[in-house]
Amino acid sequence: MYILRQLSWFFRKYWKRYTVGIAFLFLIDLLMLWPPRLIGQTVDQIRNGSLTTSGLATTIVTLLLIGLILYGLRFFWRYLLFGGSLMLERTLRERLFGHLTRMSPSFYSRRRSGDLMALATNDIPAIEQTAGMGVLTLVDSLFATLLTLAVMMVAIDWQLTLAALIPMPFLAWATAYYGKLLHDRFYLAQEAFGEMNDHVQQSVSGVRVLRAFVQEKEDVEAFRRVSEKTMERNISVSRIDALFEPTIGIIIGFSFLIGLGYGTYLVFSSAISLGDLVAFNLYLGLLIWPMFAFGWLMNILQRGSASQKRLSELFAERPDVVDSETVVEDVPDNTVEARGFTFRYPQAEKDALSDISFMLHEGETLGIVGRTGSGKSTLCRTLLHQYPVESDALFVGGKPVERISLSALRGKIAYVPQEHLLFSRTIEANVAFGSPQATTEEVWHALSLAEMKGDVAQFAEGLGTMVGEKGVTLSGGQKQRISIARALLMNADILILDDCLSAVDARTEESILRHLRDERKGKTTIITAHRLSAVQHAQLILVLDEGRIVERGTHDELMAQNGWYAEQYRRQQMEQDVAG
Ligand code: ATP
Ligand code: MG
Repeated sequence: MYILRQLSWFFRKYWKRYTVGIAFLFLIDLLMLWPPRLIGQTVDQIRNGSLTTSGLATTIVTLLLIGLILYGLRFFWRYLLFGGSLMLERTLRERLFGHLTRMSPSFYSRRRSGDLMALATNDIPAIEQTAGMGVLTLVDSLFATLLTLAVMMVAIDWQLTLAALIPMPFLAWATAYYGKLLHDRFYLAQEAFGEMNDHVQQSVSGVRVLRAFVQEKEDVEAFRRVSEKTMERNISVSRIDALFEPTIGIIIGFSFLIGLGYGTYLVFSSAISLGDLVAFNLYLGLLIWPMFAFGWLMNILQRGSASQKRLSELFAERPDVVDSETVVEDVPDNTVEARGFTFRYPQAEKDALSDISFMLHEGETLGIVGRTGSGKSTLCRTLLHQYPVESDALFVGGKPVERISLSALRGKIAYVPQEHLLFSRTIEANVAFGSPQATTEEVWHALSLAEMKGDVAQFAEGLGTMVGEKGVTLSGGQKQRISIARALLMNADILILDDCLSAVDARTEESILRHLRDERKGKTTIITAHRLSAVQHAQLILVLDEGRIVERGTHDELMAQNGWYAEQYRRQQMEQDVAG
């Protein structure tokens, strides 16, 4: 019953709906007790020869009326209880989605997205079942069983009733035993489903790479293995599932056997009438459904609680970067500073950044270069406080980043990540993503700063062109420039461009950089790049190697130092001369 306790907040919130629904169920269970009694009496009247036409007519009309009332009541409880459980499904999904949006990058590097989707599409419905079907069967089997037993004892014969109940403890034991097995197996089955989901998601999104590397066969084979595993685990669930009904069937069979054997004996010894025996067996028949319902209930509850467990585990995860109580909302200026900053990714073996120090004044540009994997993107991400950082080492606007509220920090900084992401929406919606109040002119202006205006103007639908699966396929450089326009439109005090000019040609790069310089007077810009021309104009250039600053200075200073930067610069110049 753990799951019902977990969901108690929901039942409390919708208590009216549940009370009325349950009251209707109770009425139905009461009404259902009437017909067997009427039929039993009619049998006795036939036997005594006291049955009259009008008596029979009344009985038939009564039966019909009961049938009609049951029809109406059944509609309403279904509507109320199942409607309620659908609300639960919606609420849980919204909660899950909200939770996912609050989680930080380290969460997503641990969790697989296919599995997260399985929670929304597969586990939440299992919980929904508990709140709908589960509550129904719980209440119904309880009421129906107790009421029917009470009537059997009082109106017919208590000894006969007790005798017919002898097999019941076995039922309780069997369902509890199966229930435990089912819970564990269902948990594993859901886990396997999540894995399978993840596989499909990865293959679909990576289908181009898959084809390019001619890995279709291998991937199909790998998929066969996960889907096989999912099937096997679900079959092991079904095996338990399949045991419920026959077990219940046998136990009910025994009850009938006792009821009929001992009942006939009682009729012969005139303790009860023949009509009583008929009614008794009809009542026993009424018990079949609650018994099955009880087995079913155990089944649903166990599935629901296995899924609830998976969901609670997720809800228990807290974002590793949260606002502490002492955060500030205002960031006074546009400086960026690091003082001996060292950083290690959660769960990583070694530091990704060590002893980084620099000071960037308002209006300056910082260039970060270095070999691939040297820590350039890491420095950008830590400035955005995407990961927990050591205190008093990294400062934005003179305040330690961990002391600035996340919303203030991320409003202060516009960021173009290295892995740019466009949404399957229009170009306008993509550019205005961070600034929904922007006018169309402003969007065009941002696009022209990013040297993307001409490209968009050529699309048949202009700004309204859909991006992604259902729309145009953009080139890498076009995607980069739309991402840049998105960041420029925010007109933030600090702009971070993480290697986002890599896919545009030298001339386009040059004019984007010129626009940046003109537009962002007094504001701060951080650019990481492989092509050194992108940072040449910066007031400070850092050369990183294995997370450490190995060279620093302006372009001219670095050239004079004649180190990695100078060598790299000459090589790139030469390549460009050869190409151009
Ligand atoms: P590139 O020029 O290829 O973009 P980079 O200089 O931006 O490289 P980073 O992405 O900052 O390099 O990576 C620096 C180091 O941190 C690498 O050794 C990388 O393996 C490691 N790293 C990057 N992201 C993570 C992460 N999420 N978790 C753990 N380690 C990471
Ligand atoms: Mg990088």
